[in-house]
Amino acid sequence: MTKVRGYAALGPSEKLTAYEFERRAVGAADINIEIEFAGICHSDIHQAREEWGSAIFPMVPGHEIVGRVTEVGSDVSNFKVGDLAGIGCYVDSCGNCEYCQTGESHWCLKSPVWTYNGLEYDGVTPTYGGYAQSIVIKANHAVHVPENLDRKGVAPLLCAGITTYSPLKQWKAGPGKKVAVMGLGGLGHMAVKIAVAMGAQVTVLSHSDNKKSDALAMGAKTFINTSEKNSLTELRNTFDIIINTVSADLDLGPYLDTLRMHGSLVVVGIPEKSYAISPNNLLSRQRSLSGSSIGSIKETQEMLDFCAKHNVVSDVEVITAVEINDAYDRVVKSDVKYRFVIDAKTF
Ligand code: NAP
Ligand code: ZN
Repeated sequence: MTKVRGYAALGPSEKLTAYEFERRAVGAADINIEIEFAGICHSDIHQAREEWGSAIFPMVPGHEIVGRVTEVGSDVSNFKVGDLAGIGCYVDSCGNCEYCQTGESHWCLKSPVWTYNGLEYDGVTPTYGGYAQSIVIKANHAVHVPENLDRKGVAPLLCAGITTYSPLKQWKAGPGKKVAVMGLGGLGHMAVKIAVAMGAQVTVLSHSDNKKSDALAMGAKTFINTSEKNSLTELRNTFDIIINTVSADLDLGPYLDTLRMHGSLVVVGIPEKSYAISPNNLLSRQRSLSGSSIGSIKETQEMLDFCAKHNVVSDVEVITAVEINDAYDRVVKSDVKYRFVIDAKTF
């Protein structure tokens, strides 16, 4: 066991605070990673504030992790000391079910072991995430981070990047496709950059004018302020794919109406309340409403290699550990450009 310093939420209405805890010793199949940067995902906030239901406290959030391997277990062949490694939203999966067997372990039928706010498969040991100095993980659940990418900007790829890459690929974003991205936050700005790199024509649907010049600089062709009257009705029958990254409760009807024939609106944002949908929004033009959740370890590696090839990283604001609580408040106010990343040296 090794003592590690990090930051934890001790309860749903408490601010995160400095917290010391133990990581397991490096086992035969494990690697130890000295964390360099950890991104702040809106999911960290939802969970630390118990907005998705009961959570496990103390909670050390963080599932966008990048760092150097400092120790490898005796059976590990895919990492060596000094390698740059990344960890995303889960740290274990059963390895036996139909999804694990086909490289889609994020759909593991036993449920993946979440990086934090979860229990190991022994059913009692809580998992602690990336707001910490280091982490021990099974080597087959870490990914290789390309050295050419800016490291602070890489951390958010481990959740925001894969969560948007996966549906964009699944719903075939590319040349000739019109893609809309709802919400230009952490996930949204990655969706824009990745869809542009895939060759799609991208529109950003944002709830103010504040982010217009940034969206266009990221490669979006069009920017729409959805709080302006009739902004969505004017877009009827426009998009092939909509990626909805909005974290707040929203009426999806007017957005569904902007889809073209056979278009799909893919939900990745997870607000507190359920959506109310009218059948009419779907049956017209055989539209679909779908969803997507993170991506597999295999696909995360593919996404990182894609980003390395196209030089895609997140736009980040690097903060120290003591700034985490302010950062949470700013994320909720949509005041982040476009991901906070914690410098792990400050834990
Ligand atoms: P974020 O950085 O806070 O971005 C959310 C964006 O939603 C904001 O930047 C804002 O964009 C828009 N928004 C916020 N409040 C709004 C409101 N009242 N009305 C309209 N739009 C509003 O959050 P994130 O880290 O990207 O995460 C987004 C959501 O995805 C969260 O719910 C998170 O839990 C979820 N998530 C899901 C997965 C998955 O696997 N499916 C993975 C990670 C995260 P504009 O200012 O441009 O309007
Ligand atoms: Zn996340």
